Amino acid sequence: MLVRNVSEMKSIVKGLKKEGMTIGFVPTMGYLHEGHISLIKCSKKENDITVVSIFVNPIQFGKNEDLDKYPRDLDRDLKICKKEGVDYVFHPSYEEMYPEGYSTYVITEGLTDKLCGAFRPGHFKGVTTVVTKLFNIIQPDKAYFGKKDYQQYKVIERMVKDLNMDVQIIGCPIIREKDGLAMSSRNNYLSPEERKSALSLSKALFRAKELFEKGETDVEKLKGEMRKIILSQPEVKEIQYIEIIHPETLESKKVAEKGDIIALAVFVGDTRLIDNIQL
Ligand code: AMP
Repeated sequence: MLVRNVSEMKSIVKGLKKEGMTIGFVPTMGYLHEGHISLIKCSKKENDITVVSIFVNPIQFGKNEDLDKYPRDLDRDLKICKKEGVDYVFHPSYEEMYPEGYSTYVITEGLTDKLCGAFRPGHFKGVTTVVTKLFNIIQPDKAYFGKKDYQQYKVIERMVKDLNMDVQIIGCPIIREKDGLAMSSRNNYLSPEERKSALSLSKALFRAKELFEKGETDVEKLKGEMRKIILSQPEVKEIQYIEIIHPETLESKKVAEKGDIIALAVFVGDTRLIDNIQL
């Protein structure tokens, strides 16, 4: 069932809570793919009711980012949600979420300074704000986030802990195309040539993991190998970052250890792609 108003969503939630239903929540920006579907399936398994939000949140996009061209197809998304047995799709308008006079933001410090946060000022402030609003509206028992956006997952976990929010954050594995490319709504932007070049991101991550498993722990060497693989591709415009980080603090490492995350952001043509892997 499609819900567009905050007030309607809140009254539905109130009714569900009264009946003692548990609520699983999957926040998305729509243009759903298998990555999103895996989160929905997880939620379906663990809760009585599953709510998916579809909201392209303007306040998490920078001025020169892809807000206007971000892919949208509500009909297609609704069909997918129906097929997956989603109970409610919350799809508010911008005005519904940020009415005139809107002035309140949630900021998580520290974890948001690095990686994507360093290159996308204000991005995580937009994310933590919208997720807080969505949590207040939907009051989920559990909320599902993909490890594809590893930093986002950790920032939300931190926020929930710091603000004593009553929701359990569940991190779900990265879903990839058969050839290894991490699924993303933004893959839709890629030309066939760019799609070929984009494959180098996962290739580089898999290669670095393989080298680590063979005994290489020098982060500069691992990063060097990855850069070689990625920069050999004609459509790669820029590596924004490659970092090997501690899985909890997100601090950059010099010597890689089991459990660390290799995270990267790369421009393929004009499309900024992110991916990561755990050692
Ligand atoms: P988005 O619509 O891109 O904002 O993503 C909504 C949620 O789906 C986030 O928690 C993402 O981390 C998650 N997600 C996106 N792509 C994938 C993927 N390939 N595998 C797993 N989760 C994903």
